[in-house]
Amino acid sequence: MTGRSKKLAIHGGQKTVTLDPGDIFKWPIVTEEDEAAVLDVIRRGVMSQFDITQGFEKEFAEWIGTKHALCFGNGTMALLGAMFGCGLGAGDEIIGPSLTYWATMLPALNLRAVPVLAEVDPDTLCIDPTDIEHRITERTKAVIITHHFGHPCDMDRIMPIVEKHGLKLIEDVSHAQGGLYKGKKLGTFGEVGAMSLMAGKSFPIGEGGIFVTNDRLVWERAVAFGHYGRTMREGIITDPELARFRGMPLGGVKFRLNQTASAMGRVQLKYYDERCVEIRRAMSLFWDCLEGCPGLQAHRVDEKTGSNMGGWYAAMGLLKPEEIGGVTNVKFAEAVRAEGAECTPSCGNTSPIHLHPILREADVHNEGKPTAIAHSERTDCTKPGDLPVTEAVMSRVISVPRFKRFNKEYVEQQAAAFRKVAENYRELL
Ligand SMILES: *Cc1c(COP(=O)(O)O)cnc(C)c1O
Repeated sequence: MTGRSKKLAIHGGQKTVTLDPGDIFKWPIVTEEDEAAVLDVIRRGVMSQFDITQGFEKEFAEWIGTKHALCFGNGTMALLGAMFGCGLGAGDEIIGPSLTYWATMLPALNLRAVPVLAEVDPDTLCIDPTDIEHRITERTKAVIITHHFGHPCDMDRIMPIVEKHGLKLIEDVSHAQGGLYKGKKLGTFGEVGAMSLMAGKSFPIGEGGIFVTNDRLVWERAVAFGHYGRTMREGIITDPELARFRGMPLGGVKFRLNQTASAMGRVQLKYYDERCVEIRRAMSLFWDCLEGCPGLQAHRVDEKTGSNMGGWYAAMGLLKPEEIGGVTNVKFAEAVRAEGAECTPSCGNTSPIHLHPILREADVHNEGKPTAIAHSERTDCTKPGDLPVTEAVMSRVISVPRFKRFNKEYVEQQAAAFRKVAENYRELL
């Protein structure tokens, strides 16, 4: 600790952040090229065709390194398509993290599959591999993981578990498009990598989603479930059982993506890697400035291992309250904001699913029992107290600024605001 006390802005001291952020937080980055691509779709009136979408799928699959990709109207539908694609049905258990955006797990309810919630690791905020194994039963069919806030999951430990138990692996890549684990693209480890491409996500095309897979049958099953328009085209559905139902969607749902979004996606893809490099440069500087700062722990991965945080979607940090007199994340964030920096307590839209009554109480399909347990007797992960690590970590999480551009002086000022609050925590007691 530096000892030199500076009066915190929350108590009338000088604000740390004085520079103009300019466009450093502006997202998505939309250029005339995006505008022209979208305008062309509107002018030609081809919003509901799928030729541009197929072009985007081909380019996206090449970029990520899989044989197939399939677009959806949003990320939630991509996850539903992935689950059906992997063969999930009534009573099948799917293990995933409780701490993730709800759309990772809840599409399972549409299939009457059973979401089984597991703990996260309190440092990475990604699913705890030990707890995956702990929750496997005879009924477990799949595991779904979220590379949470851009942090890659521990694939070296997860892959042997799913292989040993013969489970399907779905990766929710909504926070981590383009991210790497030891040199390999996230989304290419499991049977299928599904993700949102919603406007706020690090790969932004508007409302949209996509999944990638090397398994033709997973891809065809998802087409059959909700891309009825495509099933009539020759050569798309080759599986004989699926082919019997061409022309009608097995899920009774519609997955099609508006082509204004896929047209924008093709443009975004051209610039995505270079934009992520700039984001990573800025975020690395931010956390490097905070090395050794008391009470603060970076939520990041060591890039020397060949892993990275992709586009750092919804960047987070963790407090070490024992080093700062037990200051709460609410108080800490408030003081940082007073310094003119960006910080909120907890993980934004994400909150542990098991703390919500939906799995415990909601009888979605009128089965006389809550849907999540109508086909299973599992009640080990549906109520407060069941996942103590996840519950405890919530009070340590803070959001940190997610810079989209590199501006050394501005990033350093933001980091200085966090350091000032941490080093002068006594003023908050
Ligand atoms: C945003 C998000 C989704 C859902 O995507 P939508 O495009 O909003 O439907 C799914 N999983 C995670 C982790 C997300 O952050």
